[in-house]
Amino acid sequence: QAKRLGGNQWRRYSPDMRSATVEQLHLENSLRKAIFRDEFIVHYQPKLSLASQRIVGMEALVRWQHPTLGLLHPGKFIPLAEETGLISVITERVLSQATTQLKAWTDAGLGKLHVAVNIPPQQLHKGNLLQLLEQALDDSGLSAKQLEIELTETSLMDDPDLAISLFKQIRRMGVSIALDDFGTGYSSLSHLRRFPLDILKIDQSFIRDVGTQNEDGAIVRAIITMAHELGMKVVAEGVETREHYHFLEQERCDIVQGYLISRPVTAEAMELLLREQALAERQQPSFLSGI
Ligand code: C2E
Ligand code: MG
Ligand code: MG
Ligand code: MG
Repeated sequence: QAKRLGGNQWRRYSPDMRSATVEQLHLENSLRKAIFRDEFIVHYQPKLSLASQRIVGMEALVRWQHPTLGLLHPGKFIPLAEETGLISVITERVLSQATTQLKAWTDAGLGKLHVAVNIPPQQLHKGNLLQLLEQALDDSGLSAKQLEIELTETSLMDDPDLAISLFKQIRRMGVSIALDDFGTGYSSLSHLRRFPLDILKIDQSFIRDVGTQNEDGAIVRAIITMAHELGMKVVAEGVETREHYHFLEQERCDIVQGYLISRPVTAEAMELLLREQALAERQQPSFLSGI
């Protein structure tokens, strides 16, 4: 569970981190080395359209292939990368890997898919987000329509006017904007009207008890309805069970993402999934129709 510390800062599991200063210094040091050694890799988690039951895109999720600690998940190093300012280099690397990879898959005929990249709140204040996106698109040759960025409510609320003007320019480029982890921050749906957003991602904490607990079902239903009325597509995160899936299908959620479909996987494994889908489509109308 992410805990806000005010401003742009957030940390995971903060109680332990206070006593872990030495380890943190060590980690900061190796984080700098990791940038030089290029130890960051991108895993991908498929997003499935409920209407077509096809994989229509994926989220890029960064991992650090640490030389001694093994594969580290973002919770272990993103907070530190944010504090030390090293996060922009990581964002740049992820953007570059993800766009290059999807361009290759597109060229291989694996479908017209999109990739979503997480953008940390600080990146909005750096003043170079537009250039970062343009650079990644230029270098990779990927169509802007295939790129999506995911931002959290913190990014919107820190400086709403900045966010609005930036989002307008990003959209003009053809890149889509998703609001990530919706429901965990301080914004409300009525606030959202002010922001040019394309996609709303309902946080997994709301999905967990859906299909079993009536209150959560009611909240998710309301979010979907309002988001649609505001012209946004809805993605549900953390879809783990058939109950979740069927509830979301019934409520006309657009896209689902979660362990039920697939965990985040390596590029190689993602490619296999996409190849399987492309192959299955020549034989049957929909892939994963067993769910
Ligand atoms: P997020 O953007 O909300 O990403 C979704 C997280 O939920 C991922 O964790 C994913 O593995 C996990 N997840 C997906 N499906 C399920 C499910 O069915 N059940 C459960 N329990 N979890 C599920 P991950 O990869 O550890 O990433 C955690 C967070 O780290 C991300 O949350 C995102 O905020 C951040 N992050 C990941 N990649 C990047 C990156 O490249 N840049 C930045 N700035 N942040 C990143
Ligand atoms: Mg995300
Ligand atoms: Mg999320
Ligand atoms: Mg999350």
